Amino acid sequence: MSGKTHRLQIGDITCIVLHEGPSTSSPTQQTPEGVLQRYPNAAASEISDDLQTHGYAQPASMNALYIATAGTRILVDTGMGDRAKPALGHIPAALAAEGISVEDIDIVFITHFHGDHIFGLLNEDGTPRYANSRTITTQTEWDAWMSEDSLNAMPEDRAADLQNTMAPLKDSFDYLHAGDTLAPGVFLVDMAGHTLGHTGLLIESNGERLFAVVDLLHSLPQFKYPHWHFAFDTDGDLAEQNRKAVLARAADENLLTLFYHLPFPGLGHVTRQADGTFAFQAM
Ligand SMILES: [Zn+2]
Repeated sequence: MSGKTHRLQIGDITCIVLHEGPSTSSPTQQTPEGVLQRYPNAAASEISDDLQTHGYAQPASMNALYIATAGTRILVDTGMGDRAKPALGHIPAALAAEGISVEDIDIVFITHFHGDHIFGLLNEDGTPRYANSRTITTQTEWDAWMSEDSLNAMPEDRAADLQNTMAPLKDSFDYLHAGDTLAPGVFLVDMAGHTLGHTGLLIESNGERLFAVVDLLHSLPQFKYPHWHFAFDTDGDLAEQNRKAVLARAADENLLTLFYHLPFPGLGHVTRQADGTFAFQAM
């Protein structure tokens, strides 16, 4: 279980999918009511179709990404970390299985500020886990969570949790914008909606490409029902609009695509269906 990886080469860039662990679900989530809690605008007929096809598909995994390009070693998202051990928290073991230590990481890129992407930034004792790295996110995402207005609008315990997570890292942060280059061949792509600064990456080298779309969707039925809003989307309408646009791009450009929450390694190709929806062919 621990230390599972999937390595692929994109031109001169080495990419490794790192298994943080499974997304677990309780039996109460395996009911029509459970599906509605996760996807509040799903129709009853769509939910029964989901039962037939997937047995109520859940977020199945957490697939982080390591990228080595031109001497820069990047980790994209950090998982839940030690908070959810032993089920989760396997990214350091996965890196170690590939001969990479946490001290080797030069950049940690955070796609968005949900717990399953950021809590692995720190060790159990509150010190930075990736001690030699810059921490990079978009200015939009930072402001959406960490501005004084945003923190004041949040439940107190959540605001304190975020502040405690980010405080030890405050000197390591850099801020970019959608469209910017993170490192040679690694470009930020706006996929806002799930959170206001939710950002994917396009990785490109020697004509080969990998499209990391992170939390663009959370389970397999959302290819057939891309209008399903996820309960934890900050802006469900914007998320839906970007989900459709990004899936269309992945299909039209025949991009190898990586999803954070699909079954490990979360890699595959998106195709368009005649009715305007999408399908997924896992790799
Ligand atoms: Zn997530």
